[in-house]
Amino acid sequence: MSIDWETCELTECVGVRAPGAPMCIAHGGDPALLDSVARQLDFRGVTLGAGLWAEILDRVPYDEGKPTLTGARFDRAVFTDGAPCILRHPDGGPTMDRIQPQVQS
Ligand SMILES: [Zn+2]
Repeated sequence: MSIDWETCELTECVGVRAPGAPMCIAHGGDPALLDSVARQLDFRGVTLGAGLWAEILDRVPYDEGKPTLTGARFDRAVFTDGAPCILRHPDGGPTMDRIQPQVQS
């Protein structure tokens, strides 16, 4: 799958740039970036560990106690701690061309 988004400035990182930043949220380290990414729900190519994903879930809207990820994009996103269970039941929610669960020791 081709990468058709503007990637993180770090070499070999294909994470989509956070709005107004030269890096993806995994490398940006700025809580303000998390806020804007949580609004856009664009995680293409981003490496998402459990800690970062938890921070995202703290910021997304909730409906009846469940995070709402309508329209979220996860093309080539990597979940280093395994895909969250919410992504195992796609029902018109997130678009996932290629989730790559990985476990790092
Ligand atoms: Zn990056």
